[in-house]
Amino acid sequence: MVPHISSSLCIKLRLSLLLAMTQLLSLSYALQPCRLSAKTTRLYASKAEHDVKNIAIVGGGLAGMSAAYHLLEKIQGSSITIIDKAGPGEGGASAVAGGLLHPFSPRGKLLHLGVEGLNAANRLIGAANRHQPNCVLRDQLYRVALTEKNVDQLKDTANLYPKYATWVSPDEIESNCRPSSDSILGGVLFSNGCKVIHVPTYIQGLWSACQEMSNGRATWCVEDSPISQSNYDWEKRLSEFDTVVFAAGSGLFQDSILKKDATDFPAEIVRGQSIEFSYPSSSDYTNEALLCGKYFAPLPGSGRVLLGATHEWKEEALDRSTVMEELKQRSYDLAPFIWDKGSVQNITVGYRVQSRRGKFGRMPIIGQSVHNDIHPNSWMFTGLSGRGLIYHGVYGDILSNAIIAKTESVVLNDNPDALWWKP
Ligand SMILES: Cc1cc2nc3c(=O)[nH]c(=O)nc-3n(C[C@H](O)[C@H](O)[C@H](O)COP(=O)(O)OP(=O)(O)OC[C@H]3O[C@@H](n4cnc5c(N)ncnc54)[C@H](O)[C@@H]3O)c2cc1C
Repeated sequence: MVPHISSSLCIKLRLSLLLAMTQLLSLSYALQPCRLSAKTTRLYASKAEHDVKNIAIVGGGLAGMSAAYHLLEKIQGSSITIIDKAGPGEGGASAVAGGLLHPFSPRGKLLHLGVEGLNAANRLIGAANRHQPNCVLRDQLYRVALTEKNVDQLKDTANLYPKYATWVSPDEIESNCRPSSDSILGGVLFSNGCKVIHVPTYIQGLWSACQEMSNGRATWCVEDSPISQSNYDWEKRLSEFDTVVFAAGSGLFQDSILKKDATDFPAEIVRGQSIEFSYPSSSDYTNEALLCGKYFAPLPGSGRVLLGATHEWKEEALDRSTVMEELKQRSYDLAPFIWDKGSVQNITVGYRVQSRRGKFGRMPIIGQSVHNDIHPNSWMFTGLSGRGLIYHGVYGDILSNAIIAKTESVVLNDNPDALWWKP
């Protein structure tokens, strides 16, 4: 039976149908610009992907490797060429770094983006570790206090951040580290993501991870004649690439990648020297990493330890005997055993780019290049200072977003203070 519909209801239904059709029509008009803009966005996205596809990274230290990893991860089908003066893990400050990864300042304050940095670094370390399982030397390290003031500061750290820092008494430090030093008044044990990394091995692992991700589109070129403003062949060579990232550490200054008149660039070079010791493996020295301005850190292999570092605002390296003298004076009390029983294997020197102190201390420098016109689409990643491990991951991530979007404003979205260094 056909249901009876009254004429008034019929009129109402017709009216509502008409209304619905009108609304639908206006909605479809309203949708049109949306559809268009969605299409435009898609076009823009694929254009951006297309534009940022053939990338050169000048310098394959912590900064360059992090940028490479994040770009390869985010842009499908992109190719990366690392242009360096040395092979993976062999160049720059990264080749001689102490490898201490933790998110705290010397006074025990949590660094700006410290936790984000720790997480980002550990994600990259995980990727590198699959190729180089020996890149992590320890899953913990000690920061020790030599003054009562520092005891209070580090106790605060342990109270505020128990997830990462645990207060340890002088006796515990003595029995865990056996530095047998009366000058240690206690300290904190950093763990839960804090680590000691062998940075050269880590970089090799991260490079292997990049190669794997790129399906054969990642190349490492060791160049005899370094990139610099005055080397015009380089301008031509870099023009092959649609994007260039300058991450050459101290080479930015020493090889004049930045123009000579870059006097307002907010960073300078700091030299660091360290000594690699071997010590009798029969000893009961535990070779835990110990930090308090100077540091002792394990090296790969048994009975090897790195002692660092002298930091001077100078470029020339000290001669061997001066390094020995200077470091002995500063560290004998902490580990007399190493000085008395160890033998020197090597003295290393490295130059790190130390950024100027800003609102959050010494923060990395990322963004579009300044003081450099070798390439029209060029970016910078430097100024990692003494915080290369904690900041390379998180800042490489932020920078890669900006490079892909082709605008620095993305950097600001992620981190409003990241362009602190721009004039
Ligand atoms: C002695 C010492 C100990 C340190 N200990 C620690 C630590 O324990 N924890 C920590 O977090 N940080 C530490 N740091 C700091 C850390 O090492 C740096 O922040 C970090 O390595 C910087 O990385 P980068 O990639 O910016 O530069 P670099 O590591 O210097 O890499 C630059 C790369 O560019 C290449 N290059 C240079 N010039 C050119 C050119 N003209 N053309 C092509 N390639 C070029 C170099 O060969 C190198 O591979 C230490 C630094 C030093 C010096």
